[in-house]
Amino acid sequence: MHRILALVLFAAVMPVAATAAPCPGNPDALGTARVIAVDATTTPRVGRKHFPATLPLGPKELVLTFDDGPWPTTTPKVLDALKHECVRATFFLVGRNAKAHPELARRELAEGHSVGHHTFSHPLLDRMPLERAKSEIDRGIAADETALYGRPGATPRTPFFRFPGFASSPTLLDWLQTRGIVVFGADVWASDWNPMTPEQELALILGRIARVDHGIVLFHDTKAQTARMLPAFLRELKRRGFRIVQAVPAGQTRP
Ligand SMILES: [Zn+2]
Repeated sequence: MHRILALVLFAAVMPVAATAAPCPGNPDALGTARVIAVDATTTPRVGRKHFPATLPLGPKELVLTFDDGPWPTTTPKVLDALKHECVRATFFLVGRNAKAHPELARRELAEGHSVGHHTFSHPLLDRMPLERAKSEIDRGIAADETALYGRPGATPRTPFFRFPGFASSPTLLDWLQTRGIVVFGADVWASDWNPMTPEQELALILGRIARVDHGIVLFHDTKAQTARMLPAFLRELKRRGFRIVQAVPAGQTRP
């Protein structure tokens, strides 16, 4: 009888428990407020920097994304900072980096992040023959999936893709959509490809986020300045009342 009562009570509190799960070692963590299922049929292209729409986010909701890794000197620091705050992000891997550092790609997955794709060797796809561009995309997905899961699947487990340099073409966008692959742009850039101090980057990105209010934020986990500013950035988001949303593939129950 007690066991049944306990189960009923557990079921009743589950929705609350799911959003307010404690963060080990950090009672004041920013956390991940919710998960959003992303599907190419409803949102094939997201991010208002390049596309008309973004993810259906509420006020002060942010999706954090990190491109170009995994990279041995910086990605572990980014992962440490995210873990300390129980924040789950999306990584867009460069296939040759995933091939060189598969343990880091697997750590991203093991720590609950979404792991999408960003070509094999990071060329600008809009200025090469179509078949070569397609093979760069597929070779990247295969290298990422081999690093993550041991072998590539028939379709990408996480069908999320970002164009290097946002250099898309209408033909490639249509091709990805027919394959059920969601193309991520961004709503706000950290511009961390430009050299700056971590303090300058922090001020720049917080100012831009304040202006867009909500959306997809683009960082590079290959950049030392980004890895160094991330702990302070996450604390500041918490102080300013922002909420983190994780984008996950539709139909997958993984957190
Ligand atoms: Zn990139």
